Amino acid sequence: MLDTAKEVINLPDTICNEFQHNVQQYLIRHQSILDILSKLGETTARVNRAVTKSVTQCGCIEIKGKKNSLPENVSINELKSFFSSQVEGNLCEQCREIIEQEMGKHLFYLTALCTTFDLNLLDIIQQENKKISTLRIFNLT
Ligand SMILES: [Zn+2]
Repeated sequence: MLDTAKEVINLPDTICNEFQHNVQQYLIRHQSILDILSKLGETTARVNRAVTKSVTQCGCIEIKGKKNSLPENVSINELKSFFSSQVEGNLCEQCREIIEQEMGKHLFYLTALCTTFDLNLLDIIQQENKKISTLRIFNLT
């Protein structure tokens, strides 16, 4: 029973390391740092474009941007309720699929950048997770 629980806990770790290994194996054509950096920028733009198209071409979501105004004497616990994503609606199945595909490509090139500098993607995720877990609401960057 303990082994099963351990396997469940370690599964994301295994997938993350397997993903980085596969990216490393696949990186033949785009292994130059210049190619990786330019593809990383391109995939960021493609994620943004896919979200934009969900608004402007599909219409399944809308963006209601406005200034967030806070009343005086708001406690830290109440703070979250005064901010919103400013997104209304939900992604349709097609838009969700496209955005997921674009995010996947972005993760590929982010992982490729890790590989170039011999960085471990899982270590970075764990370090960031530890940081945000410690800082919680004060981590506003
Ligand atoms: Zn849609």
